[in-house]
Amino acid sequence: MRLDEVPTPACLPGHVVAEILCVQPSVTEAQLAFGIPTLAYERIKRRLETEAPVQLFGHEFCARIIETGPGVSRFRPGDRVAARAKLPCGDCPLCRSERGHLCRRGPIIGFQLPGCFAEYATLPEIALAHVDDCISDSEAACLQSLSDSVAAVETAGIRLGDSIAIFGLGSMGLECMQIARVSGAGRIIAIDVREESCGMARELGADHVINSAQNDPVVAVRDLTGGNGADVIFECAGGSPKQGLAGVQTLMQSIDAVRSGGVIVGVSWFGVQIEFPVDLLRERSLRYVFPDISTLEHLEHTVRLVSTGRVRLKPAITHVLQGIDSVPKAFEITASKGKYRAINPAQVILCQ
Ligand SMILES: [Zn+2]
Repeated sequence: MRLDEVPTPACLPGHVVAEILCVQPSVTEAQLAFGIPTLAYERIKRRLETEAPVQLFGHEFCARIIETGPGVSRFRPGDRVAARAKLPCGDCPLCRSERGHLCRRGPIIGFQLPGCFAEYATLPEIALAHVDDCISDSEAACLQSLSDSVAAVETAGIRLGDSIAIFGLGSMGLECMQIARVSGAGRIIAIDVREESCGMARELGADHVINSAQNDPVVAVRDLTGGNGADVIFECAGGSPKQGLAGVQTLMQSIDAVRSGGVIVGVSWFGVQIEFPVDLLRERSLRYVFPDISTLEHLEHTVRLVSTGRVRLKPAITHVLQGIDSVPKAFEITASKGKYRAINPAQVILCQ
């Protein structure tokens, strides 16, 4: 990772040039930067081998538009925007039949397109949503991740009054919890091994908080749900133990803590092959489901959720750094959130 002078980006048709105000590494980017296998690991490795030096990463940001290209209709210079990261290609059979949220051919900002760990970036209009004046730059940098959490909660198909358990209270776990709460969830049980995350969940509206370093979370969830298990579980804690994540333990606990016929929403990335008890899921009619790619509608919904105070992001933003020189430090903190007692990824303010 190094700081380089690059040409000021040019404006293209259907694109805007924007000044980056605040940017944060995603947890996935922080893992990739430190060589920990996760989403797109092989793709990024190949890119570094064949195209280095290359301007990588940076899809969680708030930016101000300074120029709009031909054909851009929704934005003007001066508008503040946030983005979704994964874009539809616009050309495949899925995109042409209004199922672009399932397209896997389109680019990801910061992976195939230059990302926003830079003072200026060219961004496609289809990625962007307006940010309300009452949302700070810092909060707006969290909207991409929040839009993925909205997609995750939609996938859960929560019915009014459903009991919910969340394993893992990092930023996405806390987001899923708050979105589920305003989407009809009944009893909400939040679970983590870190006391600071447990405290944050209490503050953000969990009905019950279980510190799983001290209490068996499966027993606790069953006790709180009349012995049945939760209707819906969000598994947000799995992944590399090298980063303080839970390995597969929380996935196995989710299977034991969900009721028969219930839903487990897989938010975590494991980065490795895992053994999985398919017959047990078959026997108990469990559904282990995964969110679709978030759409522009999801992103616009996040703006409403935050501007109306229904989802609170500010309490989880614990580490804010100043200036582009501090980007490597932000990656370090985000890759070791437990060590730094961070909840949201560490942010970098590039411009006031
Ligand atoms: Zn497509």
